[in-house]
Order: sequence, then structure tokens, then C-alpha cells
Amino acid sequence: MTGRLDTTGRPLPLTHVGVDRAAHHRLDEAWLAAAWSHPTTRVFVVSGGQVLVQDTEDGRTELVMTPAFDAPETEMHRYFLGIDPADGVRYFALQKDTLPGRMDEVARPAGLREVGGLLDPLQAALMVHAVALENWQRLHRFCSRCGERTVIAAAGHIRRCPACGAEHYPRTDPAVIMLVTDEEDRALLGRQVHWPEGRFSTLAGFVEPGESIEAAVRREVLEEAGVVVGEVEYVASQPWPFPSSLMLGFMARATSSTITVDGEEIHEARWFSREDLRTAFESGEVLPPFGISIAARLIELWYGKPLPRPGGLPQ
Ligand SMILES: [Zn+2]
Repeated sequence: MTGRLDTTGRPLPLTHVGVDRAAHHRLDEAWLAAAWSHPTTRVFVVSGGQVLVQDTEDGRTELVMTPAFDAPETEMHRYFLGIDPADGVRYFALQKDTLPGRMDEVARPAGLREVGGLLDPLQAALMVHAVALENWQRLHRFCSRCGERTVIAAAGHIRRCPACGAEHYPRTDPAVIMLVTDEEDRALLGRQVHWPEGRFSTLAGFVEPGESIEAAVRREVLEEAGVVVGEVEYVASQPWPFPSSLMLGFMARATSSTITVDGEEIHEARWFSREDLRTAFESGEVLPPFGISIAARLIELWYGKPLPRPGGLPQ
């Protein structure tokens, strides 16, 4: 469903299919044990949303991976992430309380915001999966039904309660993110109250219980900017595990143009023509949105090409 974002010639970061998740193996302890000890299996450590990465001699950034027999095993929580259909390699992530010390001179800790757009598609997908699981594991250690401490199961994809038997599954919070345009084809961009001066992006918000995603788009735009939205069209989605969101991207058409910001989430909102935005980016008056976000791609989709950078430098 990312075809509409291909006008820039680049896939949307963090959305790659990557490995075959092979979910049917998650409850098969014998299979998992054999996969873990297989010499071609690769393991990386995840802790606090970070992994170890290294820069290669030819200028790429990659995950630091080891065979399982080299992986640290104390307090082991391993997540089975899947199998590369191209070569059969099985991938695991190992959840640790801290990242191992520097494994060599080039290994360094990094989070998704920093390296999500630098890793190759398969490694980016592995990292997103592992970070999302680890976020959920870390925040759901106790049973929401009875309060007992839960234990990890299904190779990282379930937490079980030994007291009441409840099974808890990873949580994903749907959020809508939308580029709103008016009848003059100007784009509505807003600045959140906690963003620095000049940072503008698309509006966004969480879907509420019992609400359709289309209704959430219209409600959020009305609440945050006072603009009425009519037609809503789904474009693409992006996992955004900070800590557990799934961003659902839309193009939306306004039926009113007067802006009244709520002042709580959005401090300022403006209609930009393409020329307005180009001038504002190049002068530095407006800062471009975060590079790997779906927000940047929605704006590019409307803009028609990669966004200009401050000073007119190419991206
Ligand atoms: Zn329980």
C-alpha cells in the first residue's frame, strides 16, 4: 500500500517486509532451540530501544550481529524475529537490561530515529520488530487482570500470567497522521507546543476507542486546527514504536480554511503553498520534518518531489 509514496523513488522507511516472521515456530521450543544453536543464525542485542551498530568501510551502517554461541546469555530473553527467505538465516534479538560494552572500536549504541533510515531494508525491519517487542515487554511486566508478574512466552510475542493464566499480546496503538489540503491545494502544517520554533509538520493524533480511522482524521484536524475535513484517503502506514504506535497516513481535503489552533497540542498552524514552503525551507524559517517519518513523505507526496533543505542544499 505504499505505491502512492513512490513519487520520490524511495520506499517509506521502517515499513519493509524484511524476513518471513514464521510465526508458526514461536511456540515450538524444540525448533527454537535448534534454530538458536544453528551456526548461521544471527543475534543482536536490544536494550532500552537501542541496538549496537557499526559503520562499514564502504560507508554503510549495519547492526552488530553475532552467532548465538557468542551472544551474552545471562537473564536471557530472546525474541525470534524470522527467517530470511533468500538464504534461510534465522534472526533473533536478545533483550538485555543494558547493551554489552563496546565490542570493538567501531560498535556504538543507536536508536531507531538515528539509524532507522540508514540500515538496509532487512536490518531496519528486524530492528523495528525487536524495538517494538522490547518496548512492550518492558512496559507490561505485570498482569493487567490480576497484577501478578508475567513471564515471556512465544519467543517474545506473548506474556503469560502464571497466576490467572491470562495471555497478553503486544500492543499497537493506531494513530492517524494526515496532510490536509484546501481548495487552492495549499497544505496545512502545524507546530506542536513542545516543538522548537520553525518546526512544522502534518497534524496527527491517536484513534480513540470505538472510532473509525476516518472519523479520527476529521476529529483531530477539527480539534487541533479548527478546520473541517471532508474527503479522506488512506495512503500508507508506518510502524512507529515510540513506544507502540502504528501511524496510518492520509491525504485529507479541507472544506473550510479558517484556522483556530487549540493551543494545547498545536501552538501554530498555517496554510502553505508549494512556493511558500520552498521559500520557508530554503531560508530556514521553517525546519523540515524528521527525515524517516511518514510525515515527511506525505508532505513530499503533495509537494511532488523531495523537499528542499535549508540553504537550498539537496537532501
Ligand atoms: Zn494474571
